[in-house]
Amino acid sequence: MVRGAIHRCPSCGRGSIFRRYLKIVDTCHTCGEELHHHRADDAPPYFTIFIVGHIIIPLVLVVEKTWKPEISTHMLLWLPLAILMTLFLLPAVKGSIVGLQWALRMHGFELSDRRPDPQQHDQQHRDIPESPVA
Ligand SMILES: [Zn+2]
Repeated sequence: MVRGAIHRCPSCGRGSIFRRYLKIVDTCHTCGEELHHHRADDAPPYFTIFIVGHIIIPLVLVVEKTWKPEISTHMLLWLPLAILMTLFLLPAVKGSIVGLQWALRMHGFELSDRRPDPQQHDQQHRDIPESPVA
């Protein structure tokens, strides 16, 4: 999860997990780990809203109780802060969710442990008879 939060591949920790802002790479360019079958879905925005809300709302209440600023001051302060925090946290939370799914071997990541052994793969293909129809 920590590797995903810092935008790194959950398997090797070196390759980038994102190819664009929130687009996960299909496979890690460093270790080849397949990441395309993650299912983060709505979890990253949900947790990002949860985190940002639990930081911003107490700050709004403290500032209101302490200084009682105009509503326009609140708007100028909290809206940009909420947007910036959301844009910063969303990729980190998405990377963490993908890292969690990878660590728990969910949604196709369980196949990562069962990569075919090249020697076993060759042996299996030698045992299969040639098809009479070409
Ligand atoms: Zn990797």
